[in-house]
Amino acid sequence: MFDNLSDRLEGAFKSLTGDNKITEINVATSLKEIRRALVAADVNYKIAKEFTDKVKEKALGTENVLKAVKPGQLMVKIVQDELTDLMGGQSVGINVKGEPGVVLIAGLQGSGKTTFSGKLAKYLKEKRKMKVLLTACDVYRPAAIDQLTVLAGQVGAEIYKEPENKNPVEIALKAIDFARQNKFDVVIVDTAGRLSVDEKMMQEISDVREAISPNETLFVVDSMTGQDAVNTAKAFNERINYDGVVLTKLDGDTRGGAALSVKYTVGKPIKFVSTGEKMDAIDVFYPDRMAQRILG
Ligand code: GDP
Repeated sequence: MFDNLSDRLEGAFKSLTGDNKITEINVATSLKEIRRALVAADVNYKIAKEFTDKVKEKALGTENVLKAVKPGQLMVKIVQDELTDLMGGQSVGINVKGEPGVVLIAGLQGSGKTTFSGKLAKYLKEKRKMKVLLTACDVYRPAAIDQLTVLAGQVGAEIYKEPENKNPVEIALKAIDFARQNKFDVVIVDTAGRLSVDEKMMQEISDVREAISPNETLFVVDSMTGQDAVNTAKAFNERINYDGVVLTKLDGDTRGGAALSVKYTVGKPIKFVSTGEKMDAIDVFYPDRMAQRILG
């Protein structure tokens, strides 16, 4: 995860370590390398430029790198703080309050929605001691219902499904009713995706959202798709104004561009990351820990 970025950033601090005399030129070289590292990680140039401008301001401001005993270390700290800020600063939790709480899961087909729905059910059951109902609202792919049924069995959650019903709004409403009557704490609604953003999918997901007024709408996106992930995140946000982002397949993402740019571009926090196919490969997203990890 983020291997290339970590390596390149390490290289960027080279001119500020060792026996080098620290000058504005070394600092400028270092900043340029940091910018290149971000662009190579698939971060949009404008974001990378703004990032290094902020780092420069700090590095030559009150915490002056030129006067520091260990300029390299100070620069690493400044970059780490700015990376934390770029990824949202504070960790933002999921809101599942309600009787029942309702979580709507949206995203493209193949992004990892169904897998994440299972993981979230396990997380809420184990960490929050909640009684969880999973709901299958992908009315186009019978295999999606089967997949969610298998996952529900694996994580010990119940599932609500109506394989004959082709109306996702109706299924979701009935699932919430069922949950209310049977004292479930939370309902997770897994929806249909398509291979790319299209009007029919957007209309369907916004109809479901309007009908069920979820406490939390999470947008799931494959981090390995880089800039595309950020563009898709933007398109969904414009239509359904979701509350948070789930980045999946971070285990295979060696660049990290989506993790670094999505908060800046869309203004919504990353709430969870998914790092594998197993049901416990889910983590709450902490920007500071991620920044620390990137810088090794
Ligand atoms: P959906 O169409 O959005 O519901 O996507 P799925 O949940 O069916 O996931 C698509 C594929 O990605 C499946 O083969 C999953 O096992 C895989 N997958 C999901 N999340 C992750 C992840 O975090 N890491 C890896 N490596 N694979 C994942």
